[in-house]
Amino acid sequence: MTRKYTAQCACGAVKFGFNTDPDFVANCHCLDCKRASGGEAATFFGVPEDDFTLTSGNPKARRYIAESGKALERNFCPDCGSRLFTSNLESFPGLVFVMLGSLDRPELIAPKLEMFTKRRLKWARPLDLPQFDSMPG
Ligand SMILES: [Zn+2]
Ligand SMILES: [Zn+2]
Repeated sequence: MTRKYTAQCACGAVKFGFNTDPDFVANCHCLDCKRASGGEAATFFGVPEDDFTLTSGNPKARRYIAESGKALERNFCPDCGSRLFTSNLESFPGLVFVMLGSLDRPELIAPKLEMFTKRRLKWARPLDLPQFDSMPG
């Protein structure tokens, strides 16, 4: 079955896909995203669990307790270490959060908001999008 969006890790061992056009697409500047992604911010979006399909490989899941005190599982490729998606989020049941950079065509999805802007580093310029000091809502 062809899926609208396909994604993979850097070495190509893990592949997945989905059809949903995500509503929630965040550029998050929180310290947790900095550390976990290795960059100034992480861009990720929510896809319904039942639309998310692993098509190749065996990503490894690691349980983690976020700053909010809620658990989640970070999934990465055990061969190349690429961070791919986050699942079993206590805060967002039924959603998988996909890291934008894992998409085969990352240009197809763009952030719709920026969050944890209080943690944005001085050299990073705000995007022309709704800005949230911490979590939106
Ligand atoms: Zn890999
Ligand atoms: Zn974050």
